[in-house]
Amino acid sequence: MDTERRHILDVTPDELAEWLAAGEQPRYRLAQILEWAYGRRVDSFDAMSNLPADLRERLAESFRIEGPSEVERLTSEDGATGKLLLELDDGERIECVWMNDDGRHTFCISSQAGCPLGCVFCATGAGGFRRNLTVAEILGQVMALARATGELRNIVFMGMGEPLLNLAAVIPSLEALADERRFGLGARRLTVSTAGIPVGIHALAAFGVRPNLALSLNSPFDEQRRELMPVGATHPLAEVLDACGNYARVTGRRILIECVLLGGVNTSAEAAEAVAGIARDLKALVNLIPFNRVEGAAFREPTRDETAEFKAVLEAKGVGVTERYRRGRDIAAACGQLRGGHRNG
Ligand code: SAH
Ligand code: SF4
Repeated sequence: MDTERRHILDVTPDELAEWLAAGEQPRYRLAQILEWAYGRRVDSFDAMSNLPADLRERLAESFRIEGPSEVERLTSEDGATGKLLLELDDGERIECVWMNDDGRHTFCISSQAGCPLGCVFCATGAGGFRRNLTVAEILGQVMALARATGELRNIVFMGMGEPLLNLAAVIPSLEALADERRFGLGARRLTVSTAGIPVGIHALAAFGVRPNLALSLNSPFDEQRRELMPVGATHPLAEVLDACGNYARVTGRRILIECVLLGGVNTSAEAAEAVAGIARDLKALVNLIPFNRVEGAAFREPTRDETAEFKAVLEAKGVGVTERYRRGRDIAAACGQLRGGHRNG
């Protein structure tokens, strides 16, 4: 791995401006380089054809620009969902997903290779933890997806890994995605999903870019949550919900509560009522995610009735609730199915 040269996606515009000034380059070169890197999404300095040859050479000596290599590209039979399997410099493999809604794309990206949290219903968790991704590897997924699909609208950190355990790379990535001079998405189009790491939620609340926050609640009962999500043993719900409440107050953003529905396990009316209570306290919306089959996880999908009844309880309590679309299951691109190149059963 080339550790000498920083990746251009990991260099802020201010740092690039300093580098240009140190090399006695005119200031307008900055806008030109940013346009090539972020607007045109080129993956070589040679392609930056309006820069003088010696500047292109010096850029290549100082920085890297190549993205992760694409190993596989799969498109779902519905044509509206796809995933890329990417290989990183050290051979680790990660996956990222695109979803097309009438020409508007949502990209679902990974923050870690694997995940250390081991939720029992999740393929990423079952595969164990490999390592944190770098800023360039996180943003490299966005570049690769944008090249594959042409347009980006929303970015969700809901791929592999726990984003709040990799804040050192996730925060600069959010900054780049929101930044007008780079990806220009603005914070409202960014969502970070967490299994519930209170210190990470507080850190995110204190940070300038304020993405939407999604909490993977999955069970409103501490005891059951601990069984499904080992991280629940370290961070009881009261602490997690307190951090979410603070996030909503500080940022003015509405929290999204995600609930994976495991048929016959966490789908009871009592569970639905408790989820409704939590959602009302937080003024949160609830997103139901019917379990997607993953190898080795002994759960079943909820029946239509189970999902409908759960939803009805929430609605009756006045809680806004949506059901996540289930696209991409044929290519193992749905929630919880990403594991970096191994097929699921
Ligand atoms: N680690 C973060 C973000 C990635 S997981 C988190 O847990 O929030 C994204 C979402 O997929 C989470 O809400 C998780 O609960 C859900 N998920 C995991 N495995 C799933 C499965 N087999 N079926 C449906 N959803 C699943
Ligand atoms: Fe990690 Fe999220 Fe999967 Fe849990 S659901 S193992 S936190 S990626």
